[in-house]
Amino acid sequence: MKAHILILLFVALPCLATGCHTPSSSIDGDPMLSVNTLIDAPDDYAARRVGTDAYPIPPYAKFLKGVRICLNPGHGGDADRRGFKRGPTGVREAEMNLRVAQYLRDFLVACDADVKMTREDDVLLTYEERAAIANDWGADLFVSLHHNAIDNKPEVNYTTVWYHGEVSYRPSNLDLARYLCDGLYDALALPRITDVPLKSDHLMYKDGFAVLRHAKVTAALCESSFFTNPDEEQRLRRPEYNLREAYGLFIGLARYAAAGLPRARLIASPNELRAADGGADKRSAMPIEAMTMTPTVSNESGIVFELDDGLRRRKAWGHERNMILPDTIAVRIDGRRVQHEFHDDGSRYLLRVEAPVERPPGSYQVEVQFQNMNKNSVLNPYFTVEYGG
Ligand SMILES: [Zn+2]
Repeated sequence: MKAHILILLFVALPCLATGCHTPSSSIDGDPMLSVNTLIDAPDDYAARRVGTDAYPIPPYAKFLKGVRICLNPGHGGDADRRGFKRGPTGVREAEMNLRVAQYLRDFLVACDADVKMTREDDVLLTYEERAAIANDWGADLFVSLHHNAIDNKPEVNYTTVWYHGEVSYRPSNLDLARYLCDGLYDALALPRITDVPLKSDHLMYKDGFAVLRHAKVTAALCESSFFTNPDEEQRLRRPEYNLREAYGLFIGLARYAAAGLPRARLIASPNELRAADGGADKRSAMPIEAMTMTPTVSNESGIVFELDDGLRRRKAWGHERNMILPDTIAVRIDGRRVQHEFHDDGSRYLLRVEAPVERPPGSYQVEVQFQNMNKNSVLNPYFTVEYGG
């Protein structure tokens, strides 16, 4: 009971101070058509607080450096749809999503992550356009930012993070979702949870969320809390609460990067195979020297990958030890599991599979999966190989 009263006080006090039950502008006084429904904050609100005692940058956040993160604030350009994605007093989801994304960007940029936003303004983009921004850029991670809604259940308020399809669809999506969820748990500390917070988008639609379905990079979609909960709606108007949420997402991403982002790189194929670059991994994720080394591990023809556990290159004590869980290594050609050879000489990992010699000439998809010692999976596991027969 005491805790209940404390929570109510916490919610009520800022509202008394700011009069936050009235959206700041509306069309014809109709709150369900209003815009700028959040409490105003200066443009540098987050930037001035990044790295302060309240929002410290942990030392492990240094591993975000150079990680390409595409942030996708959900919705936008939809204020004229009366009541669309709005809380009980008319606060718009599109606006809270954008502000959380902007604040999250400030944290990430402070750690030298590469950040791209799918939208900076209150504009409408299709789901395909949003995913294409991440795909074409060669993002490592694609994070969609949303807040949730439910009809006729104002008491509901918890965090969910969504992945596409089956758990096997792209295991790295689960890594991203898990770290984001844990960060949100810590930052928002909502009193209620759903018992399994990582959800498949097939629960919502037969083909899942379009934005996740079109993503060709590691992707997840956060529904951080429910704006249909009246208390939460008012919290979500406040810049300090948006910043707290952004900080939780930032911490989640920093922990993920610190645990190592595994990658695979196609480094050689036999003469009759012309390799196309792997998946959406358009840039060199591996050290340059990896590309100039002897391309095969044996005299037999085969397809050779160099694996990167995301950890060894830090040269920490013990870095020459194997940090890839051998039983998690799996290679599939067009979905069919094939034999592989795994070699670790203490400085680099090589993975070799036979060319699809028994198959007709054509284009084959090769999938390379493994987990590093922190159970993180390959960011971009898909490669296209042309087999000439
Ligand atoms: Zn949404």
